[in-house]
Amino acid sequence: MKITKYLEVSTGHRLPIQNDICSNLHGHTYKLMINIEFYRQEDEYIDMGSFIDWQIIEKLLNKDFGHRYLISKHDPIIKQIKDLPGIRIVDYFPTSENISKEMIDLISQEILLEVRKKDIGHMSVRLKLSETSNTSIDMQRDFKINKRIHNTYVRQ
Ligand SMILES: [Zn+2]
Repeated sequence: MKITKYLEVSTGHRLPIQNDICSNLHGHTYKLMINIEFYRQEDEYIDMGSFIDWQIIEKLLNKDFGHRYLISKHDPIIKQIKDLPGIRIVDYFPTSENISKEMIDLISQEILLEVRKKDIGHMSVRLKLSETSNTSIDMQRDFKINKRIHNTYVRQ
């Protein structure tokens, strides 16, 4: 049993490390597809969709990303814009890959808090994040409950 949720979040960024139009201030409406699977053993899936409070996850994502402008603390223009409304200073350059990593960790940690006392052996969280209609990042985190066992991500 796989639970899928679709969300959108509008976020601004720039990538000064790229010497093209991506170094201009701009934004995207990121499309997120979140898949979650719970299972006790390898092939014993659990229907636990009702344990996930999607409104909390949506609020968390909106708080950190919704109509925010992400800027790396290493960006040369940070002094000029750091005090503007909606600015959020991050440790990373806000590429799709890095935004995906932060989002999937945020989502995973929240769900782990919600389900850690349930009878679940494993949880798998997959995030597909599309910055444009022809680019997406696909990332997965697999957890033994309370213990992350490995993570992978693939750029498509
Ligand atoms: Zn961009």
